[in-house]
Amino acid sequence: MSTKRIGLVRIAQESNAFSPLASELDDFDRTHFFEGAELQAILEPNGTEVEGFLKNAELSGALKAIREHGDDSIEVVPLFSSWAMPGGPLSPAALAGLNDRLRDALRAAGPLDGLLFSMHGAMVAEETDDPEAFFMQTVRAECGDDLTVAVSLDLHGQMTKAFIDQIDILAAYRTNPHRDHAKTGYRAGSMLVRALLGQITPVLAWRTLPMVLGGGTTMDFLPTMRPIYKHLNRIERDDKVLDASVFNCHLWARHADMGWSTVVMVDGDASLAESLADDVADRLWGVRHKQPPIFPEAAEAIEQVRASRLRRKLGTVCMCDASDIVGTGTVGENTRLLRALVEDAADLISYVPIRDAGVIEELAETVVGSTVTVELGGRLDPENPVFTVTGRLAMRTEHDTFGRMVVLTVGNTSIVVTERACLVMKPQFYSELGLSTWRADVVVVKSMFPFRLYFLLQNRRTIYVKTRGASDLDRVKELTFNAPVHPLHPVDHWRPEDARRRGGLPV
Ligand SMILES: [Zn+2]
Repeated sequence: MSTKRIGLVRIAQESNAFSPLASELDDFDRTHFFEGAELQAILEPNGTEVEGFLKNAELSGALKAIREHGDDSIEVVPLFSSWAMPGGPLSPAALAGLNDRLRDALRAAGPLDGLLFSMHGAMVAEETDDPEAFFMQTVRAECGDDLTVAVSLDLHGQMTKAFIDQIDILAAYRTNPHRDHAKTGYRAGSMLVRALLGQITPVLAWRTLPMVLGGGTTMDFLPTMRPIYKHLNRIERDDKVLDASVFNCHLWARHADMGWSTVVMVDGDASLAESLADDVADRLWGVRHKQPPIFPEAAEAIEQVRASRLRRKLGTVCMCDASDIVGTGTVGENTRLLRALVEDAADLISYVPIRDAGVIEELAETVVGSTVTVELGGRLDPENPVFTVTGRLAMRTEHDTFGRMVVLTVGNTSIVVTERACLVMKPQFYSELGLSTWRADVVVVKSMFPFRLYFLLQNRRTIYVKTRGASDLDRVKELTFNAPVHPLHPVDHWRPEDARRRGGLPV
């Protein structure tokens, strides 16, 4: 029996094309980097794949599938895993650095039969709007067309012809907020190993729609999207259907053919795959008019918090700073909501994060307890206005992810200043500083969806607040598209544009 060798690799980041701060290789290495035996160790059942975030994510899910569906003829070859916090487009050096790492790891691994590649799918680089396709070119250049490539993706990934043409197997998250990272890796891994053992012949069909916004809030358990995910489960009951995915756009990516899409994997039967993909695409198109809600501005949001008396008593109100969602890759130093809370909501106990390495440095020697006046924000993104505040330096500490931190108290507002991007999605961000989220009237979070899971216990009301910044939904209007897209332009049907995009035809 000849041995089949499967490589495991991850290069993942959700990028924000509107962030002026490029992502560097160092951002990847600081967040998460493991290779070889060390990678293998964190993927084993007693390991933790992403410390502080997930015990099991895509690669450990894939490893589990390979072990369960594989046999003694399968050899797993852990290459590396590079995962960065969301951020701006990759600098040319970061893109080249990751690509070199990929090429070197593939060469060092020796001949592979299969590759499980975990990606986000909505990465952006200064030099290319389709880094995933770029990395896949390297895979093909090194390993040739005989290598069977399976990818696991975030459902916010962008599907393009350049990318799809280079892969064989695909599985994407089915939950938003995402809570099926490991299951997604498992799905991709099981298809890959079964294909290598000759048990199935995966056929991929896909559709890409000229549609960037729809599906309401796009959460999987709410009425708009739930029937679509249920439909995917239903079609998978057919033994020939291996897997089905839908994608609903990362609005802060940048690709001239951006849009929602679907990918269906079928065993052997290409015409079944095509007809199922058509049907799912129709269903996606069917929810295009369900637009996300309009977010209130700060003044109105503050009134809503005031009106939520009982809810504040029983827990807190989570205010998502929708214009500065670090989870989408913004820099996290937008002062607009902070200013509104300090100046117009002095009666409310509020916790607000802000990234400002300059202020951290400035206060490095200041005695805790002192009254200080500092200028916050506006250093990394010139669109963010500076906000000058006077308050008490309440504490100073350091965190693995957020770097050095200080807490400034201004009346009822606790401002948490971080050295690095303040991806606030868990109550622990505050509680570890002694700021009880149960005690606050309002806590500001900088995550789009995941905080809703983590704050489930104490969150009595969620308010998304729009001021102005790099994660506003309407920034998508600034992008250049090859052809009209819903809802920015009138589009009669998805099919002509899908045919052009998939055919690689000129506009
Ligand atoms: Zn996502």
